[in-house]
Amino acid sequence: MKKHNFSAGPSILAKEVIENTAKAVLDLNGIGLSVMEISHRGKDFQAIMDETVELFKELLDIPDNYHVLFLGGGASLQFCMIPFNLLNKKAAYLETGSWAKKAIKEAKGFGEVEVVASSADSNFSYIPSDFSIPGDADYFHITTNNTIFGTEIHEDYDSPVPMVADMSSDIFSRPVDISKYALIYGGAQKNLGPAGATFVIIRDDILGKVERHIPTMLDYRTHIENGSMFNTPPCLPVYTCLETLRWLKKLGGVSAMYKLNREKAEILYGEIERNPLFRGTAEKDSRSLMNICFVMNDEYRELEKEFLEFATSKGMVGLKGHRSVGGFRASTYNAMPVESVQALVDVMKEFEKIKLS
Ligand SMILES: *Cc1c(COP(=O)(O)O)cnc(C)c1O
Repeated sequence: MKKHNFSAGPSILAKEVIENTAKAVLDLNGIGLSVMEISHRGKDFQAIMDETVELFKELLDIPDNYHVLFLGGGASLQFCMIPFNLLNKKAAYLETGSWAKKAIKEAKGFGEVEVVASSADSNFSYIPSDFSIPGDADYFHITTNNTIFGTEIHEDYDSPVPMVADMSSDIFSRPVDISKYALIYGGAQKNLGPAGATFVIIRDDILGKVERHIPTMLDYRTHIENGSMFNTPPCLPVYTCLETLRWLKKLGGVSAMYKLNREKAEILYGEIERNPLFRGTAEKDSRSLMNICFVMNDEYRELEKEFLEFATSKGMVGLKGHRSVGGFRASTYNAMPVESVQALVDVMKEFEKIKLS
């Protein structure tokens, strides 16, 4: 049976990306060696890293004064690396979900943290719009897509201080004005590649402004100076990211993805609104294009388990909602085809028919 992979992360990758990675695992470009067994300092891997960085910059239209790094440790290590490198006195954070909370917790170990606004009062069902960014903060941190709660910031804010964004789950899903950000980071495993690689897009003029000693591995300058090769980078995950970027370019880049992502979201949110069994959990103007969260309407709550089993029997994978929201979460990352979203909608309609007719 065909599987429709709605997992939140690690998550769906394009079939072609997986196939090309599998080929390179067996034999990279006919050199007679696996991409896993060559030196990261040799010319074959250097070519992979160079093309990955180049395509990353090209597809996101990254200005020349930014660096693109591939590190280990996940987005979670960035929660600590960011304040380590940037927080002198005070940092401002927008609290829009569990990942933002984790980032805030780490920053508190390095200085004062001002939470400019929070949607914790409504279980993070919206993006606060009424807040101001303090001009005396060292930086302002946002989570552009809240993977767990299914909300997303749909604009690039104007910030009076350097803006830092966790884009783990919406990087490459929509056009972004990179010049408005000082640092963008994320784990690769949502919209880019397998787990193991962390991307960082950084403008280096924000560095060198804190007094504290920064351990070598946690200092962004180390990785900028060494082109992400200070130590062994996550070679195989980086290779898969490269295959994703090649695939993305072939399909028309970020703007083509944005169009498809809006189309997929429209189809699924449309059905959630139409189908009397279901309702969405995020407020309409804050709804994510990447993680679509929904529950069963109150009077049908006891059917949730049955719907999940029904959907699973039809090939739907990874639909169970995060425990902090409950219900269901359909992640519709770039690699998810429109047909899979349509297949889920068909399952929702079929279940409605069984239960309500
Ligand atoms: C998944 C996720 C993280 C955590 O990423 P790790 O690579 O597991 O550390 C952080 N932020 C957001 C928005 C995420 O979706």
